[in-house]
Amino acid sequence: MKVPLFDMARELAAVRVEIDAAIAQVLDSGVFIGGPEVAAFERELAVATGSAHAIGVSSGTDALHAIYLALGIGPGDEVVTTPLTFFATAGSAARLGARIVFADVDDDALTLDPHAAASVCGSRTRAIVPVHLFGRLAAMPAVDVPIVEDAAQSLGTGAPRGLAAAYSFFPTKNVGALGDAGAVVTGDAALADRITLLRSHGARPKYHHVAIGGNFRLDALQAAVLRVKLAQLATTTATRRAHAADYRARFAAAQLPAELRLPGHTDEHVYHQFVIRTPRRDALRDHLRAAGVDTEVYYPSPLHVQPCFADLGYRAGSFPIAERACTEVLALPIHPTLSEQARAYVVDQVAAFFAR
Ligand SMILES: *Cc1c(COP(=O)(O)O)cnc(C)c1O
Repeated sequence: MKVPLFDMARELAAVRVEIDAAIAQVLDSGVFIGGPEVAAFERELAVATGSAHAIGVSSGTDALHAIYLALGIGPGDEVVTTPLTFFATAGSAARLGARIVFADVDDDALTLDPHAAASVCGSRTRAIVPVHLFGRLAAMPAVDVPIVEDAAQSLGTGAPRGLAAAYSFFPTKNVGALGDAGAVVTGDAALADRITLLRSHGARPKYHHVAIGGNFRLDALQAAVLRVKLAQLATTTATRRAHAADYRARFAAAQLPAELRLPGHTDEHVYHQFVIRTPRRDALRDHLRAAGVDTEVYYPSPLHVQPCFADLGYRAGSFPIAERACTEVLALPIHPTLSEQARAYVVDQVAAFFAR
């Protein structure tokens, strides 16, 4: 049996007629940048996330970048975040000249430890950036510093609790575009206005540049596709949660050794990924690969030891919990079209590994 980690073709097939119609409508309209599809998607995303403002942008990376830029973050400023995340969380602030200050993650949640984050905040801290890793909400640090949420993996968890949240619609995310796309959501009208200005070269009106921004715009074609996908979010999220519950029941029945750790459950978890842990991760991954089960490691290396951040002065050992997680985590298939037979097969194969 073959069990892919994602199954974009089958997911797309379920909404293909609506997507074809949405694309045709954009082609007929002749409006490809901005326009009514982008505006409608922004309204629908604001409703779906329970926030006052949603601004479509070109990617999740650009959503983070636009928020940092709008907050005026630059040289001399510090941004506190987790080392266990995709590069963009930190890279989008570092490229503005900010210094990245890492704090370790919570061992159970694998998200930024709010106490560790608070302890590294200082007079230069301009933002704290918790990442809702794998679709699980991170705890919010209780500090008087703007909180920017990297919500790239957590669409469907409800309204942002911080100042602003960055979403990604990379094709494999819980709502995926047919290419790159992203959005910022916020309850702050002034911040929303600033990001809207910055995403189009800071021009207001056209050709009168009041700020230095960039081209962070969302394409009308992507917006039209995303409207179709967003309408399915409640259903696909319920399916992901049901898959996670099913995995848990099957793993419990298989009575596996304690060295296998299942992801901690919370009610808001949207299971972008279902990530198990074991010190024998690489051998388990090889076993699953040979059995036809695709898995992935998010992430093989924490950010504080990446070559581009060498000048920050961290080293192996700086954040032991994140470092150990990188050697133990393994994401199993949990996409909405995953069959019951496939889930049973995945658990059987994991059990077979531990029975060897
Ligand atoms: C996907 C992702 C991003 C970046 O999103 P893109 O749309 O690929 O630019 C940022 N942070 C996290 C945690 C992500 O998973």
